[in-house]
Amino acid sequence: MPHHHPDPSTVLAYAAGSLPTAFAAVLAAHLEVCPTCRAAVRDAERAGARLVEQQEGAALSSGARDAMRARLSGTAMAPRPLLHDAPRTRDPDRLPASLQPFFGPRYSDLRWRRVVPGVQYLRAEADADGGLMLLRIAPGRGIPLHRHAGHELTMILDGAYADALGRFGAGDVADLGEDVEHQPVTVPGRPCICVAATEAPMRFQGWMARALQSVLRL
Ligand SMILES: [Zn+2]
Repeated sequence: MPHHHPDPSTVLAYAAGSLPTAFAAVLAAHLEVCPTCRAAVRDAERAGARLVEQQEGAALSSGARDAMRARLSGTAMAPRPLLHDAPRTRDPDRLPASLQPFFGPRYSDLRWRRVVPGVQYLRAEADADGGLMLLRIAPGRGIPLHRHAGHELTMILDGAYADALGRFGAGDVADLGEDVEHQPVTVPGRPCICVAATEAPMRFQGWMARALQSVLRL
């Protein structure tokens, strides 16, 4: 069971169909393993349905109403959440269903690109409407202090890291707003694999560049 969850505002945005695709994919991956957040999404969708029925647009902008309608009718671009419990026996080689359209079904088929020793990444193949990438970081590796330029949603898929906010293991989400500074260190034993959605790919490039520059100096 995950210990770190997305911000309630991120869950609401997901339920309303207004999260960018990359963020929705990461959030849906968390929903696959988090009954607490699945319940929160269901509550928000019910509340949204009531709003649409009762207000008929008075309280919602037409854009928000359209997004909600699309969401409720299943035509939203964002991947649909799996609102049922995941099977008990999970194939450890299979990626979460919501990430498979972007990266394929199996970890063993991923073609990692090494950026520096100990750090590999893989960018989403499909257009993810924002940055979406997998990171694989060697055990016991420090990623130096860095500042986020925009909203970033990260979920741990395997392994773990720790920073000032706590220990983040498989299923946990770090929902970091702008101007959050942190200094994660992957735990020993196994590589940390995570998926990260970022608001602005170019800024993330900048972040990667700065972080990896510092990694090289370690
Ligand atoms: Zn959760």
